Amino acid sequence: MKDCIFCKIVANEIPSYTVYEDDIVKAFLDISQGTPGHTLVIPKKHIPNIFEYDEELASQVFARIPKIARAVKASNPDIKGMNILNNNGQVAYQSVFHSHFHLIPRYSNQDDFKMIFKDNSNRYDADDLKKIQESIKEHMGD
Ligand code: 5GP
Ligand code: ZN
Repeated sequence: MKDCIFCKIVANEIPSYTVYEDDIVKAFLDISQGTPGHTLVIPKKHIPNIFEYDEELASQVFARIPKIARAVKASNPDIKGMNILNNNGQVAYQSVFHSHFHLIPRYSNQDDFKMIFKDNSNRYDADDLKKIQESIKEHMGD
């Protein structure tokens, strides 16, 4: 897609530190290196976000992530774990609108990655959860 920075990386019009590629995906170092080894996995096809995948492309992309994650982890003995993140929409901190999965190696609880979500369980009773459950299930066929 014209004017998409990740499509330009796929086409090698913008250089990247690529660690893996095949006909479906490209994996390359995120320029920000949130933690050392921070890698992005993207479909070569321009897909803006998770809501636009069909099952075939999703299964092809997701199938490749564990292998890439294992290689990133094996690259540095100090890596103890990994967060895999996929942001969808500006409100969810997506800034490049070509779908991508962040592989963020974790070195310790004090490294440069933080993720905070509150435990709001005390605000929901069974009825509230049932309503949310039903509302999501209603749309599952879409
Ligand atoms: P988002 O905020 O959309 O989830 O993540 C976009 C990511 O793309 C950011 O972490 C940012 O550092 C990375 N990024 C943006 N432009 C480039 C670029 O030109 N090259 C590389 N390698 N990463 C980029
Ligand atoms: Zn693109």
